[in-house]
Amino acid sequence: MNKADYKGIMVFAEQRDGVVQNVAFELISKARELADSINEQVTAVLLGEGIKGLANDLIAYGADKVLVADCPELKDYITEPYAQAIYHLITERKPEIVLVGATTIGRDLGPRLSARLVCGLTADCTSLEIGEDRNLQMTRPAFGGNLMATIVSKEHRPQMSTVRPGVMRMAAKDTNRKGEVEEVTIPFDKSKFAVKLVKKEIEAKNKVDITEANVLISGGRGVGSKDGFEKLEALALCMDAEVSSSRAMVDAGLIGHERQVGQTGKTVRPDIYMACGISGAIQHLAGMEDSDYIIAINKDKYAPIFQVADLGLVGDLHKILPLLTAKIQKA
Ligand code: FAD
Repeated sequence: MNKADYKGIMVFAEQRDGVVQNVAFELISKARELADSINEQVTAVLLGEGIKGLANDLIAYGADKVLVADCPELKDYITEPYAQAIYHLITERKPEIVLVGATTIGRDLGPRLSARLVCGLTADCTSLEIGEDRNLQMTRPAFGGNLMATIVSKEHRPQMSTVRPGVMRMAAKDTNRKGEVEEVTIPFDKSKFAVKLVKKEIEAKNKVDITEANVLISGGRGVGSKDGFEKLEALALCMDAEVSSSRAMVDAGLIGHERQVGQTGKTVRPDIYMACGISGAIQHLAGMEDSDYIIAINKDKYAPIFQVADLGLVGDLHKILPLLTAKIQKA
């Protein structure tokens, strides 16, 4: 492997059922920023069937080129065809950096690709920067989130990383941006296709995506019980907000994991994040500290959550929340 042969940044633009996932736009936005700092190009890889029309959106967020493989083999995500397609494009185009969303698909695809490419993978990154030596500095939580580790791949190419949805900021969409769309053909080895998709069951979409809420009222162990959560829900209702939580509440079975914020939950960045009875453990902060305005309610004035809060209320949430709800309802 000659390092000098590897140039530019490649982003796997994940789409599901013809909808490009936000994480793809986030990664393209970040890739654009990184590529500009080293004077390189951003190439997005779009795989699927009937998806050519999505390419222009990827350009609008910062891609210079979109490689489109539009064929029946890639209609639905199945590991082997997708891995073969991206492996082929990486070995052919030789990007210096490859970025993949740390979604269920990306978490399946990333390790398989890195094993085939023998290049290593830094999973679940929260920050990506180009170092002075031009290597990518990939930062991720380590040791249960107690420290942040910056990993650099000095010898191997490409430098590969998965990044959690919601971590990188999406750039403003610029529909006037110009870029190139190139249709590509993948030389599949179908003898390796061991899995066939027999049936697809789509989960009813009654679950909210807390990453899209503008206001989150989040509850922790201090909320205590189902009754406590009802106070949170009442406030959320009158503020047009969604309810989220710390892991303590999920572990206690009071709320579903899809509403958990933090290192092993979701990364959120709402306009207002109200942390009620949440201490502010590092693993929780990892998922919400970039919120625009943080309000914390905690009876312990030394709770670490106050260190990241813009507004802190020291007191019993069971008294404060109903007062707040009544006040807002009257307003
Ligand atoms: P606690 O830490 O117990 O805090 C409860 C707070 O409520 C206290 O500060 C207390 O003063 C306050 N309080 C109590 N009663 C009241 C009241 N009546 N009024 C006002 N305040 C009150 N955690 C996450 O949240 N998300 C994650 O994704 C996550 N991932 C993890 C991954 C790993 C590998 C590990 C090891 C841990 C992870 N955790 C995660 C757990 C994390 O370390 C903490 O244990 C958890 O965040 C604590 O939740 P909490 O703040 O609700 O509870």
